[in-house]
Amino acid sequence: MTRRRQIYEGRAKVLFEGPEPGTLVQHFKDDAYSDGSSRRGIITGKGVLNNRISEYLMQRLNEIGVPTHFMRRLNMREQLVREVEIIPITVCVRNCVAGSLAERFRMAEGTALPRSIVEYYYKSEELENPLVTEEHITAFGWAHPQDMDEIVALSLRINDFLTGLFLGVGLKLVDFRLEYGRLWDNEQMRIVLADEISPDNCRLWDLETNECMDKDRFSRDMGRVEEAYQEVARRLGILPEGGPRDLKGPALMQ
Ligand code: ADP
Ligand code: MG
Repeated sequence: MTRRRQIYEGRAKVLFEGPEPGTLVQHFKDDAYSDGSSRRGIITGKGVLNNRISEYLMQRLNEIGVPTHFMRRLNMREQLVREVEIIPITVCVRNCVAGSLAERFRMAEGTALPRSIVEYYYKSEELENPLVTEEHITAFGWAHPQDMDEIVALSLRINDFLTGLFLGVGLKLVDFRLEYGRLWDNEQMRIVLADEISPDNCRLWDLETNECMDKDRFSRDMGRVEEAYQEVARRLGILPEGGPRDLKGPALMQ
């Protein structure tokens, strides 16, 4: 097999040149970094599970007409996506108080918000991903006002849909982070959902016990991290065929 050209290596994924122009291969790693990067480590099987979970959720979103970069899963750790020009902001949608919002306003985690809050963070590790407003985003030329209207409408629709989907499997979608990109079809520009949707970037709590079932288990050193990722996949009905045995997977397929 010929070695593919690596385009980028991030914290959770490696991007390779895809088989056709305009495509990329997203390879999901087991590496984990806490928010703020104070902790790093390996969550065994995370890459395999996030590849599946993101595939599943992006497919469901495609079915309801939300445009995403997802094309198809290639193997245990890789999926084929459309290459987009990433808009350099992370969109965070919150349904309950948690994480940095709880810290900033000294509010109790878990407090339900009377309406969903949409926040934006500028994607820059050097600047520690600062919170920004639509004013910064449009003034600095990261996106146009009409792109932002589209992004807010899509994010709220995704929130409504995913909240219901997770509720159906006994999970509360506390908050989540999304990335969007621009895709050109001839002269036409479309905004599409990119990156991934997984317990790495969603806060998911058990509906009955409020037990945390996401990356906070790693960031906050709560233990049973692998089990939490597996349980989310199990509830969605998408555990890999061989069960946990399959999760080791081939370390790196190139
Ligand atoms: P990071 O450490 O920057 O979060 P990840 O490990 O999550 O990186 O790797 C994914 C990288 O690929 C991110 O920088 C993300 O913006 C980018 N990305 C995601 N989807 C696409 C896409 N369809 N086209 C181009 N870049 C993408
Ligand atoms: Mg990322």
